[in-house]
Amino acid sequence: KRKPMIGLQPEGDVDWSEYRGVLVVVEQRAGVAKPVSWQLIGEAKRLAEKLAAPVSALVMGANVSSLAQEAIYYGADVVYVCDAPELEHYRTRPYSRVCLHVIRQFKPEIVLMGATNTGRDLAGAIATHLPTGLTADSTELDVDEDRLLLASRPAFSEKMLATILCKQFKPQMATARAGVFAPNPRDTSRTGEVVVVAPQMNPDEIATEVIEFLEEQKKVNLQDAEVIVAGGRGLGSPAAFELLRELADALGGVVGASRAVVDMGWISHDHQVGQTGVTVRPKLYIAVGISGAVQHVVGMQNSTWIVAINKDPDAPIFKIAHYGLVGDLFQLVPALTKAVKSR
Ligand code: FAD
Repeated sequence: KRKPMIGLQPEGDVDWSEYRGVLVVVEQRAGVAKPVSWQLIGEAKRLAEKLAAPVSALVMGANVSSLAQEAIYYGADVVYVCDAPELEHYRTRPYSRVCLHVIRQFKPEIVLMGATNTGRDLAGAIATHLPTGLTADSTELDVDEDRLLLASRPAFSEKMLATILCKQFKPQMATARAGVFAPNPRDTSRTGEVVVVAPQMNPDEIATEVIEFLEEQKKVNLQDAEVIVAGGRGLGSPAAFELLRELADALGGVVGASRAVVDMGWISHDHQVGQTGVTVRPKLYIAVGISGAVQHVVGMQNSTWIVAINKDPDAPIFKIAHYGLVGDLFQLVPALTKAVKSR
């Protein structure tokens, strides 16, 4: 029994012992789940093992029932599904009402969601209503002997890692960065329970309407990419990114970058991989003319396969690369592109 802080909850002792298990809110768009959802189910599984408790997932949207099965394949024991036409597009109120209903009824002790634009909006709205604490943008998660969530996140311009503990309330909530945690392998032999949940608002009560999505043309989606060809200062000029684009196109991938080239204005910041950029986990990461500074490596070291192209055989990037090509990128990259295209 813990005494809640005055002002945030009714005074008096609150019994939190009914709260059990870890709930992951699955994020999807047009029926396709964001990879961070499966990564968080993987991490939830590790936390739940320590707590000897189940992992649940919440799927919301329109025509999303098949994602319930996917959530089970990735490690969920129970999946709550709210499938309704009015949930086709994300809007804070109808989505947060469903989340609040599931949390209040099924009482998970920990709730996790991706630190995406949607996750940040939804988690904040829910935490305020419950009310409970929320650690945003976590990069490490653990639980202590009191079953409390230890959520760590970079702080003070990424100079230190702060571990944040919410002592008073349940559920314990955190959003976590995409690409940081590993998903469990998709196991189609897993079985689990699916619980259907009704929408918690009438469609005519929903005050906002999504009329159209306008994609920002310039933005690159590094987090969902399976192949990234990233360039660094070794390219020598912004024009050399064209070589990387050709290779990325041939491989069905996208172009990433080190901070050095972003700072020099050779490419926009949304391409930056690393501590102050995006954390990625593609199947293939090709680092071209990138030395391998620790701030870059933390953002891409979990890639399945890392290929480094660098003229310096002692470049630190070779320490984490699975394959290394020592030589001039202006010869190696076009040769690689030609080889890929001829396959
Ligand atoms: P360099 O270190 O200059 O490396 C260039 C490489 O290109 C060299 O290894 C060289 O051998 C090779 N090369 C040169 N010519 C050729 C050629 N013709 N063919 C083949 N190879 C060639 N960095 C990030 O990337 N992401 C971050 O998020 C990030 N955050 C940071 C946060 C903080 C607080 C700080 C202090 C730094 C951060 N940095 C970050 C910067 C980081 O420390 C490095 O300065 C940066 O990653 C270096 O970029 P680079 O590898 O492109 O350049």
